[in-house]
Amino acid sequence: MSNLEIEELRASTASLVAPLYAACFGEGSTPAEGWGERAACWETGCLEDGKQKIIPYVEVGTPCPQCATPMTEAYPLEWTSRYIKSELSYPGTIALLGYIDRIVAAAWAYEGEIGTIATRKYPNNPSMAAKVVATYGRVWPKESKTFYISEVFVSPDKRGNNYAQELINKMLSQARYPVTSRTLDTSPMTTVFTKAGLKKILSAGSDPENNLRVFYASPRN
Ligand SMILES: [Zn+2]
Repeated sequence: MSNLEIEELRASTASLVAPLYAACFGEGSTPAEGWGERAACWETGCLEDGKQKIIPYVEVGTPCPQCATPMTEAYPLEWTSRYIKSELSYPGTIALLGYIDRIVAAAWAYEGEIGTIATRKYPNNPSMAAKVVATYGRVWPKESKTFYISEVFVSPDKRGNNYAQELINKMLSQARYPVTSRTLDTSPMTTVFTKAGLKKILSAGSDPENNLRVFYASPRN
């Protein structure tokens, strides 16, 4: 029996989840330990697709490799709250938070055309977006829509309790389309996705931007 209470994550709660988001994605000094997203450059000339340029595994104050301005927080609370709200505004979003004595986990997924989502995930890499669409199309030839698991995160001190699995399973039980998601091959999410029945459709080495990235999808029966 799990002691995790699962509730709906609403836009009005986004600001309460933002500190957890920053803590979860800021963790780690190597890809095996986490995303290490602590420092970013917010100078106009360094933005990528309108977003901060994150340099993983370095600390706030490190000079930006491109413009030398000292970098600041990758996920400041106000920006992060707005980002989460924007994610929750996509059509067909299912967003959950996991609560024990405080918010310890959150996850959200949304519906969309696979082409739209692939372009959103690979804004600077049309050939990679096209590869995702083509690969999805081979698994699901008659289906252009997907239920994309966008973010899943668990407080570093609460890992190992299956909370991510609980959130994923709950979201999948409500999915109306084949599920997809992207993660790193070194992430514990690969185990969660496999247990949930998803299959890797793009292996490590497929993505020239990050050779650890992998893409998962529901298998066709
Ligand atoms: Zn810069």
